[in-house]
Amino acid sequence: MGERRQVDFNMLALRGKYPIPEGWAIYSWERKNFGKPTEYIEFKGAICTEIFKRGPRKGRKNWAKRTHEMSLPMTHAELEAACEQWSKATGLCYHCVGNGTAWAGWNAADGNIYKPCKRCDATGKIGGAA
Ligand SMILES: [Zn+2]
Repeated sequence: MGERRQVDFNMLALRGKYPIPEGWAIYSWERKNFGKPTEYIEFKGAICTEIFKRGPRKGRKNWAKRTHEMSLPMTHAELEAACEQWSKATGLCYHCVGNGTAWAGWNAADGNIYKPCKRCDATGKIGGAA
């Protein structure tokens, strides 16, 4: 299987709204005011300064060691707008990130399962085919 194009839309949206330092990454996020019209997502992130050198988490980030901790709220509308903006700039469908197929599940036999993207009719592009 070829490489699927991947875009981190959460980081894209956050970078569009906040001055985010190089190396900063999201370590957790939470839906706030869940189910209410005022619902938003709170992203927590930092620059991780240490990697586990041994043990079961070897090679992974040790988030206990971090700097530049920030807690950044984003509304669903803002996230959506960042996706739309990316779509306009690239001409690609953001739902499937231009791949034409969208992730639809996973099973042990086949691994990841992809289905044709309904949003762009599996073209991967926006505004109908060229
Ligand atoms: Zn699509």
